[in-house]
Amino acid sequence: MVSRELIEVARSFHGHVCPFLVLGLRAAEIALSRLGVKRAGVVETVREDIVAIIEVNNCFADGIQVATGCTLGNNSLLYVDTGKNAVTLFRRGSKRGVRIYVDSEKLRAKYFPKEALELFRKVVAERRGTEEEIEKLHKMWEEIGLRMAELPEEDFTIQEVEIVEEPERAPIFESVRCSKCNELVMAPKAVYIEGKPYCPTCAGREVPAVIGRGIKTAFRIPFKVVEL
Ligand SMILES: [Zn+2]
Ligand SMILES: [Zn+2]
Repeated sequence: MVSRELIEVARSFHGHVCPFLVLGLRAAEIALSRLGVKRAGVVETVREDIVAIIEVNNCFADGIQVATGCTLGNNSLLYVDTGKNAVTLFRRGSKRGVRIYVDSEKLRAKYFPKEALELFRKVVAERRGTEEEIEKLHKMWEEIGLRMAELPEEDFTIQEVEIVEEPERAPIFESVRCSKCNELVMAPKAVYIEGKPYCPTCAGREVPAVIGRGIKTAFRIPFKVVEL
């Protein structure tokens, strides 16, 4: 069961307590215990020993990061954009991992009061809730979230997976200096025009990006420097 302490850590990271944040914590907890490992600490995060593969970038993903210690920044978190509420955890060097899938439809029917779902539709999906309703929804959402901390394992789909190809550890790249903005850019990201290196921004290139809808392979950089 997810401890209240961990939920509070997750709250400060995520900004609020909601059902999928806590489901992420709980799923991670189950996966860690099945693997017989603890939350990634100093050694594991430096060596990228434990790897979490998330399949969605929503509240669930934040729960996974808080509970496993595998984060986007320490390169122990991989994001594959299949659009499913699922996480796979494995230890490098081991051929086996655990995948946990959360079926939101089943959980909704079982644990989410109708009133909360209706309010959610009005406030979030249709964006036409009063301030009071937003407050009320937030309270109900947190209550459901706290309930998720105690879900039995049977409410999750737990699978053993075989790691067929271990993903590479984050490589360390040389940098080159952009011929226009003079900023350093990782060598493989540099764009060469007439033999001179440029960063993708100065070269006007679209780049892959993680945005709300998932991974976009060609994304236009949405800002430009107005003053140096
Ligand atoms: Zn959330
Ligand atoms: Zn540049």
